[in-house]
Amino acid sequence: MTVRIGAHVSSAGGPHLVFERARSIGAEAVQLFISAPQQWKLPALTDEQVDRFNRVREASGMPVFFHGVYLMNFGSQDPAILEKSSASLLAYHRYAGRMGVVGTIFHVGSHLGAGYDGAMVERIAGMLRAILEDDPANPALLILENNAGQGNCIGGRFGELGAIFRALGGHQRLGVCFDTCHAYAMGYDLASPSGLEAALDEFDREIGLDRLVAVHANDTKQPIGTFRDRHENIGEGHLGLEGFRTLMRHPAFRDVPFLLEVPGFEGTGPDEKNVRRLKALRREAGLEAPRMPPLSRIQKAALG
Ligand SMILES: [Zn+2]
Ligand SMILES: [Zn+2]
Repeated sequence: MTVRIGAHVSSAGGPHLVFERARSIGAEAVQLFISAPQQWKLPALTDEQVDRFNRVREASGMPVFFHGVYLMNFGSQDPAILEKSSASLLAYHRYAGRMGVVGTIFHVGSHLGAGYDGAMVERIAGMLRAILEDDPANPALLILENNAGQGNCIGGRFGELGAIFRALGGHQRLGVCFDTCHAYAMGYDLASPSGLEAALDEFDREIGLDRLVAVHANDTKQPIGTFRDRHENIGEGHLGLEGFRTLMRHPAFRDVPFLLEVPGFEGTGPDEKNVRRLKALRREAGLEAPRMPPLSRIQKAALG
């Protein structure tokens, strides 16, 4: 029982390269896109790319997560947007199944002022059900992420995600990614032990802590309850090292990978310094580090 420290890394040059990139900053789990996140263009990997990815993934020993494209909006009233959103998530989900990926983390979207009522919950659940039932043998998860509550976004409060779980009858291949920056922006006071306890109680009541499969470990540039989504490096924001110390010690996060989506100290995204800060807190909490293969083994597998 430990906490893996992972990171979102670039898949430029081919998805098999993420393992080397992640390992070079000390990461123990990885998140990636398999298509441009600001475009609707569907991912299109060759069989050879999939095989190569799987070979390096096995050598790396890392759990892998996809992050869906940002354009998806399951709360839209526009049928064309709904169709594109479903097609994009389905494409990711199929690749996730073929590539040994735990699941695809995605944002439900925004109701854009239309309101989040029972009819909308049913409609969203229907689209997700169709994706989950595309191939019942696909073991990958669909992983809903909480958001910062900005712009009528759905899923800032855990109950809004819980409604989708209930509409899907608690489908076994649904999970949640808990973004610390977003939760804090939404008003959950994760920086204090009592605030964290209250937030996790609510999560457990509305969704179930057994559905927590990943954490987006991000500090935040904005004070609590501001509904602003501005990630900060670990220890440099309002959650601070004390906030992450509290998180790391909580038993709810055992065996739930922490994935960094921080700006980085050089502005190039998750880096070794952020990874090291979380690892130091893990050591302090008395948790072991997972055993990781050496970088050379990953590089060798990548060369094939
Ligand atoms: Zn996130
Ligand atoms: Zn964010």
